Amino acid sequence: MSLIASAVKDLSPMFAGRLIQPNDAPYNDARLIHNGMIDKRPALIAQCRGTADISDAIKLAKSLGLEIAVRGGGHNVGGRATVEGGLMIDLSLMRGVHVDPAHKIAWADGGTLWKDFNRETQQFGLATTGGVVSSTGVAGLTLGGGFGWLMPKYGMALDNLRAVKLVLADGSVTRATRDDHSDLFWAVRGGGGNFGVAASFEFDLHDVGPMVFGGLVAHPIDRAKDVLKFFRDHTQTLSDDVFMVAALITAPDGHKAIGLAAVHCGSLADGEKALKPVKGFGSPVLDVMGPMPYNAANMMLDESFPKGGRCYWKSNFMPTLSDAAIDTLVDQFMRNPSPLCGIVLEYFHGAATRVPVDATAYALRDQGFNVLINSQWLDKADDAKGTAWCQGTHQSLQPFVGARRYMNYYSDDDMTDAGVSSAYGPNLPRLRQIKRKYDPDNVFHLNVNITPQ
Ligand code: FAD
Repeated sequence: MSLIASAVKDLSPMFAGRLIQPNDAPYNDARLIHNGMIDKRPALIAQCRGTADISDAIKLAKSLGLEIAVRGGGHNVGGRATVEGGLMIDLSLMRGVHVDPAHKIAWADGGTLWKDFNRETQQFGLATTGGVVSSTGVAGLTLGGGFGWLMPKYGMALDNLRAVKLVLADGSVTRATRDDHSDLFWAVRGGGGNFGVAASFEFDLHDVGPMVFGGLVAHPIDRAKDVLKFFRDHTQTLSDDVFMVAALITAPDGHKAIGLAAVHCGSLADGEKALKPVKGFGSPVLDVMGPMPYNAANMMLDESFPKGGRCYWKSNFMPTLSDAAIDTLVDQFMRNPSPLCGIVLEYFHGAATRVPVDATAYALRDQGFNVLINSQWLDKADDAKGTAWCQGTHQSLQPFVGARRYMNYYSDDDMTDAGVSSAYGPNLPRLRQIKRKYDPDNVFHLNVNITPQ
């Protein structure tokens, strides 16, 4: 019997979740994540049911000398939720959400998806900032920032954190809050999975919905440059109630198009007034902007990101959007190799951008345009084309970009020294010191890694 099989046999009677080895039937499903390009084979997958399982899985990995990967929602395109030949701590069985409506607080387990979270909190007309695609994990998104429809009004997802329960590198369990282990609480709000495995999160909630005013309008691609100029100018007038994105996309009928998506999180009447200029601009070929459930707003983009699609992403932040940048964006989009490819511009403003850069580890507090080159395709034979288009587009946008980058959008090859600096900016030295205190041996290194100082 191998060392791993013997350790699994010893731990199994206590372990509440599942310990899955390569020959076990669930292995193939369990090892796959959102990005179909990631084809790693862990030596062991520990599907945990609680903090004790996580703690035992960490100790087991260390005793066997296995690298540790941590899977929350498994959405990260860089694929660091899994590991070749190591131990994957998989939290997909831990998706419980508990809401205290009287105090407007929610607790979410470490493997919760945003669709689980929104479903429970919306029972009470409550929400917090979360991702715009419902199958994204709460954990990875929040630990690395977390923007969505509520970001201008209520900040990043991590700005709404009250506490995080973490299993540390030695297997011990700690609760970090503003008052308790405040250094760790500062670090996990933006430092990603570097400091431990987040077993659960405690969030502040806000009154949102259940109906909001939002949706999509789309214009033909030959209007793309004018629509992007309108988007640039109109975003400068937005109140904190509105989050808005523009996307160069291919419609299901095969026509290329430019879409504008927005959600207003206040009253329906205010939302209708605020989004009237968006609906009124030009001659849209599609207008599905109106009253909709907040839950539906968080699912309206889901189909554009099929599970198992092969993904390669690059992103940059543009403080301003010049005419020359718009020309480049549209020209590059026209060359894309797959109808699933897109370029998305997310306008960051409001509460999230008013938080000082050193208030949390998360450093991208600028106002401006987060630009995602979302290269996606289905056939393995198209890997080289899909990757090359994304890299070429990224290169051509360099004259227009700022210093910071959104680390949750990193591909595996972004996790370099330069990528680490762009992600953490001036907060990196303090993060390194806190890493030395809580994870001196860098047990948790499959992330945008902060090496201990
Ligand atoms: P995973 O791949 O499971 O994990 C990502 C990283 O976090 C890994 O390093 C992992 O080890 C670590 N990690 C995961 N869980 C834990 C845990 N419990 N404890 C400690 N470390 C952990 N971002 C936004 O801000 N807003 C969006 O609207 C948005 N939309 C997206 C839509 C799609 C289709 C995709 C693919 C991504 C989107 N993202 C968005 C990016 C998203 O924030 C990141 O992909 C994020 O890492 C996903 O979190 P996850 O838990 O699903 O990821």
